[in-house]
Amino acid sequence: MYPDSLEALIESLMVLPGVGRKTAERYAFHLIEGEKDATEKIIASIETVNQSLTQCKICYNYADKEICKICSNQNRNHNIICVVSSPKDVFSIEKAGQFNGVYHVLKGLISTRKGVMPEDLTINELLKRIDENTEEVILALSATVEGETTALYVSKKLESMNAPVSRLAFGLPIGGQLEYTDDMTLMKAFEGRKRMK
Ligand SMILES: [Zn+2]
Repeated sequence: MYPDSLEALIESLMVLPGVGRKTAERYAFHLIEGEKDATEKIIASIETVNQSLTQCKICYNYADKEICKICSNQNRNHNIICVVSSPKDVFSIEKAGQFNGVYHVLKGLISTRKGVMPEDLTINELLKRIDENTEEVILALSATVEGETTALYVSKKLESMNAPVSRLAFGLPIGGQLEYTDDMTLMKAFEGRKRMK
């Protein structure tokens, strides 16, 4: 019923999480009928993010430059590394505002079901960051089977290098994903972290 170009816009909006047909239609109409400036700004930001968003060479978080804002911040403790599975988790932990170390993004979790092997992740890159100055490596991984498997694998590797490893244990719901954990729970999980042996 829609012209092809409008139909194409609606369908492309439906790839977004939580956006069904009705919402996509509403967004599409807003984009074509709303303020031209606002629409152009959205188009320009998508283009900019596509062109300039890259990966930090140290921690693999998203960045606009070779080294992300966190890794280039000298006020942070670079000897405490918090290991997460995705950039989204970095932003969740930053929002909670309790952590002043740096991060390492694994870019996924080990999963036999999905065929994700340790070498598909940035585990070797993490190990290269460990040296005698490393005070603590905090594993902040989801309390899922895949999170557990990954935590176990990574902690064994780290322990063989004598790196002190701890893990967020408290408060994280079993099966819970880090990105959906609220700030307060996340703060408590950090405070209650435990040394792994
Ligand atoms: Zn970084």
